[in-house]
Amino acid sequence: MHQENLTRSNERILIVDDTPANIDVLGAILMEEYDISVAVNGPMAIEIAKSDTPPDLILLDIMMPEMDGYEVARELKSERQTRQIPIIFVTAKIEDRDEAFGFQVGAVDYIRKPVNPSITLARIKSQLELKRYKDHLTRLVEEKASEVTSSRRELKHEKERLSKISEDLVYKKAAAHKHEVYFRELFMNSPYGIVLVGRDNRIIRTNKSFSKLLGYSVSDILNKRFPGFPVEDLFRSNYEMLLKNAQNGETVSVEIRCLHKNGFEIPISALAYPVKVDNQVQGVFVFYENISQRKLFEEKLKHQAYHDSLTGIPNRLLFSERLDMALENRKNGTGFKFAVLLIDLDRFKSVNDSLGHQAGDELLQLVSAKIKECLRTKDTLARLGGDEFAILLPDIESREKISIIAARIAEAAESRFIVQNQEVSVSASIGIVIETESYENANHLLRDADLAMYHAKDSGKAQFKFFTPKMHETLMASITIENELKKAVEKEELILYFQPIFHLPGGEIEGFEALVRWMHPRRGLVSPDQFIPIAEENGLIFPMGEWIIEQACLTLATWKEWYAGRLSMSINISIRQFLQKGFVDRLTGILKRFSLAPKDIKLEFTESLLMEHSSRAVRALDTLKERGFILSIDDFGTGYSSLAYLQQFPIDQIKIDRSFIGSIEKKGDSFEIVKSILSLSKSLGLSTVAEGVETREQIRILNRLSCENAQGYYFSKPMPPDLASLFLKNKAYPRK
Ligand code: C2E
Ligand code: CA
Ligand code: CA
Repeated sequence: MHQENLTRSNERILIVDDTPANIDVLGAILMEEYDISVAVNGPMAIEIAKSDTPPDLILLDIMMPEMDGYEVARELKSERQTRQIPIIFVTAKIEDRDEAFGFQVGAVDYIRKPVNPSITLARIKSQLELKRYKDHLTRLVEEKASEVTSSRRELKHEKERLSKISEDLVYKKAAAHKHEVYFRELFMNSPYGIVLVGRDNRIIRTNKSFSKLLGYSVSDILNKRFPGFPVEDLFRSNYEMLLKNAQNGETVSVEIRCLHKNGFEIPISALAYPVKVDNQVQGVFVFYENISQRKLFEEKLKHQAYHDSLTGIPNRLLFSERLDMALENRKNGTGFKFAVLLIDLDRFKSVNDSLGHQAGDELLQLVSAKIKECLRTKDTLARLGGDEFAILLPDIESREKISIIAARIAEAAESRFIVQNQEVSVSASIGIVIETESYENANHLLRDADLAMYHAKDSGKAQFKFFTPKMHETLMASITIENELKKAVEKEELILYFQPIFHLPGGEIEGFEALVRWMHPRRGLVSPDQFIPIAEENGLIFPMGEWIIEQACLTLATWKEWYAGRLSMSINISIRQFLQKGFVDRLTGILKRFSLAPKDIKLEFTESLLMEHSSRAVRALDTLKERGFILSIDDFGTGYSSLAYLQQFPIDQIKIDRSFIGSIEKKGDSFEIVKSILSLSKSLGLSTVAEGVETREQIRILNRLSCENAQGYYFSKPMPPDLASLFLKNKAYPRK
């Protein structure tokens, strides 16, 4: 018990009385020793008792209006907050019954009025002392109680902890058991064949799948050294590697072939991984998986990747790989030789266009099968795409042998093929590279085979050509020319030459043929044979052709200003130029500009234009004819067309090719041909021109055969405009 708690210090006493005089009396007695507060009615007393500074003791008058002392006491005792405050009733007269009632409602004592100061003080003192003891005891009890509660709480926690630990233990035991079951399940019923190898490299455990996979029972391999069954020598090192690496803590896998107990091979993927306990490798698990399905699938994919789906033969990818391999082989210096053929079908496109893709596909299948028949098993026939095939001929020695094979292939391609109930015929243009020693790169080799193939096509298709470095040079030259030609038109490097054409019976000038020249700054005068085909190929012929027509018309118009006789201008028109949309209108437009009539102009076409035979070409020819142009067939006799064939076209004139005229004096074929051309032309009403006349004798013969016109060096070479002008003036009819 703490002493200071028992000493009084500023104890407060609440005096409750409705009579101020009574309050004064009591106040006077107590004032010196206590703090005094005052209430003049019951509610006020209750309010003060409940305030932040409650009294330590209440002196309560019993007889008060509204709320008497009993009621106040009852109220205060009913509240936990005010219950402990001792109440002393102060009353004038007291009876035993009242006293009993007062104690009942919670009073601790009575003081009688009129109050005796010393008795009052003594009673108050003792009550306050009592309260202090009570308070002290209460605190002590409370302290003890809270100590007990907290230790009880701790005890509870401890209990809970213990029970949790024991729960954990139970759970862990169950889990461990469960894991073991899981593991056993996994091991025994895994779809993988599993073998557990101990530290001594001996097999400790195997499962059902393993037995099923390789046919060995548990007793067959238990305690045997890994792998526990016979292996092929080829794969022995794989097993050693698996085990060694896994024992070093790594997970490794290999694909190998295993022998089933019954002797057959199975493709297997084997994976080994270490079993570690406390970071120490205690053993190795080896998983065996049958991968034959996957291998089959892979094979199929590989086949698809390397073969053409339409024909089933190797594709470009496989061909390139084999070609690379062949190049490698050759480098090894074993004397290995090989050749490469590149084949492009002629007329395939027209089959495809006229009979449809289905027919085209069928044809490719038939052709590839036919070509394959010409080859040995070690040769590779591949489809590079479209109607392009390539062949790799390994171990081939001579040019002669390759020629025989190429000829056989060309013949095979020309077989009768029936697709969609139709007989179709194609042929093959073949390019061959035989000097394969000089190549490092497969692409270069294929490029040259391609170039040779183009030469085969250019030389009339259905044949084979061996690649020569000259082809390359020609190609390079034409590329250079092409680039320079693009600028030639703008730079005004082109010029027209004019060659006169004579009327044979009279010997007078009929007209001129315009022949283009290229004044190349370095090469000098370049012949049209060298650049017209290039211009046709790259489209330059359009602007160039238009320029030629304009210049030819301009020249004719200036000559006509002073020349009185009939004079025509022959202009060469290339097929592509002729087939260009709007050609006829543009031509007519130019004529108008120079006030020339269509009959002044002779348009020279080659026979190939007529072979084209497209409805558009025929219509354009008809239009030209209707407008009054004179249509002439150039180089007649060199192509395939006969005069009978020409009849269907609105032709006015034919020019007999100079190759016939050159040999006409020899009285051989040429003479006969020229003779028949001339007589047939006459009967068809066509006029004729002999080209390339160089001798007097030729003129004599042509005259005898009544050829109408002639042109050639005998009269004059083609001349630049000013010289041609002079020539015209000298031979001219008199001025107008
Ligand atoms: P082409 O139309 O048959 O022209 C006749 C060619 O024979 C000209 O060669 C001419 O110089 C040559 N020639 C003329 N007389 C004789 C002769 O007595 N003996 C020999 N050996 N040759 C003679 P050129 O000018 O080199 O023209 C070659 C070809 O180029 C022309 O053959 C023609 O197809 C084409 N060509 C020329 N100019 C043009 C043109 O402006 N436009 C088009 N599209 N092609 C043209
Ligand atoms: Ca011509
Ligand atoms: Ca000609």
